[in-house]
Amino acid sequence: MYRSHNCGELRASHTNTEITLAGWVQGVRDKGFMVYVDLRDRYGITQLYFDEEQTDKKVLETAQKLGREFVIQVKGKVQERASKNPNIPTGDIEVLVSDLTILNKAKLPPFTIEDKTDGGEDIRMKYRYLDIRRNPVKNSLIFRHKVTQEVRNYLSNASFIEVETPYLIKSTPEGARDFVVPSRMNEGQFYALPQSPQTFKQLLMVGGMDKYFQIVKCFRDEDLRADRQPEFTQIDCEMAFIEQEDILNTFEGLTRHLLKEINGVEVDKFPRMLYDDAMRLYGNDKPDIRFGMQFGELNQVAQHKDFGVFNNAELVVGIAVPGGNSYTRKEIDKLISWVKRPQVGALGMVYCRYNDDGSFKSSVDKFYDQDDLAKWAEVTGAKPGDLICVLSGDTNKVRAQLSALRMELAERLGLRKPNEFAPLWVIDFPLLEWDEDTERYHAMHHPFTSPKPGQIELLKTDPGAVKANAYDLVLNGNEIGGGSIRIHDKETQALMFDYLGFTEDEAKAQFGFLMDAFQYGAPPHGGLAFGLDRLVAILGGQETIRDYIAFPKNNAGRDVMIDAPAPIDDEQLTELSLKLNLKS
Ligand code: ASP
Repeated sequence: MYRSHNCGELRASHTNTEITLAGWVQGVRDKGFMVYVDLRDRYGITQLYFDEEQTDKKVLETAQKLGREFVIQVKGKVQERASKNPNIPTGDIEVLVSDLTILNKAKLPPFTIEDKTDGGEDIRMKYRYLDIRRNPVKNSLIFRHKVTQEVRNYLSNASFIEVETPYLIKSTPEGARDFVVPSRMNEGQFYALPQSPQTFKQLLMVGGMDKYFQIVKCFRDEDLRADRQPEFTQIDCEMAFIEQEDILNTFEGLTRHLLKEINGVEVDKFPRMLYDDAMRLYGNDKPDIRFGMQFGELNQVAQHKDFGVFNNAELVVGIAVPGGNSYTRKEIDKLISWVKRPQVGALGMVYCRYNDDGSFKSSVDKFYDQDDLAKWAEVTGAKPGDLICVLSGDTNKVRAQLSALRMELAERLGLRKPNEFAPLWVIDFPLLEWDEDTERYHAMHHPFTSPKPGQIELLKTDPGAVKANAYDLVLNGNEIGGGSIRIHDKETQALMFDYLGFTEDEAKAQFGFLMDAFQYGAPPHGGLAFGLDRLVAILGGQETIRDYIAFPKNNAGRDVMIDAPAPIDDEQLTELSLKLNLKS
């Protein structure tokens, strides 16, 4: 038996008990005639005590030679400490050691295994197994486990069944690039790793499973923005014989359950916002509604004067920054530079101070008098003491820019509180999205999403206006889940592929199996998937998902610990019938 207790377990009530512990040496304090060792494992830290009088000489000497992160086993007796440490649960006791075995020595770790480490991100990732010994990472992984356990509990209690679907499949249409795997047995042919189990979960509905879920890895070969991973985890779900309302209620229930069990937070019924309203009021389909600062569209009140910039703009839109009138001229100039950064891309920003005495002072006083500016204040909901920031230009662009500014200002003003939770559904997404590059419509969600009833005809005349039975679950400015009611008949699905520019042959080659299945009694069905990594990070009050992933990849998609991806040798290439054609 390696241990009778763990390092977080012993209390004053164990005094005089003979115990055996095993773990890592967190630190040694050698006072010559007495030695203290902090012994650590996943459960906590226990102080070990050795002294000249009570400890065997050899044992004491061994203790004096212990290095950080040595793996040891000790036997001894629990005793109350002379000076207690109220900061740790085992702080009342220590173990008077009688036997000490070094189970394994350790090289000096490249960074300190402390909550606040001296190791930078790169080095911590290279030695991630050491990083995982640190409380912040360890606790994040434990936290993630709690979340997944609650997910499994809730869904299992609601009659969902977890079914595994294959990883070696064929392209799935989530709009990203596939990771592919060459097949040795089928020369020149490749599997694609799933971007999601989308088609399989629909086939499970045809198979009569009725309610499916899976906590599953998905793979998307995308350019990695700061906080994305090429492999990530979804809570993937699908239900048969349901309408949109059933889905929203079920997964609102799951989210509420998680907020309650994990965060101890009770949330009211989730608001529902039309996609069009989200874009109009927040410039964004995943609005953070923990704070106000809604957009006010100013075309009507700002386009009748001689200010060409506004007159020529498709949209003039502003927000009121609470207390922003206190900003100095220099601070406002900095804000203007901020919106002009290439990442945001605004051409400029007009502003208007709302003074405490009710008067206004704007950067365009030449064109607008006090009455005009009062209307700006009315439309943006500004109050005395606020600053109105106004952007103008092409509708889609200007909304994105103002949305970025809104989020930035809220961050600076401390309005994005990590322990406040504001979930909502965004519903009625457009079915299609115009893609500038390919000059074609693409499915905004994916091609299996059904249009709103009665709108299919619109596809011919005004495709961009067709709304879908698609919804996103948004939490604190992040999309944490999204899904749709699916098409479940072959004709509509074929029509959809046709509108999306697939030839009949292409559609058949890629998704023939699904269309075939639809001919054998496909029930009405729909579902959604949560992004688990992000969900866990938000529930944990963090913005970054990396700490919640045991072995994450870096921004270049590399695992720096195992050094992957890596070349394969010629023999393996030959076996796979592959020849490299490298650019460099
Ligand atoms: N497969 C979709 C996704 O990964 C989710 C869904 O429609 O259920 O976004």
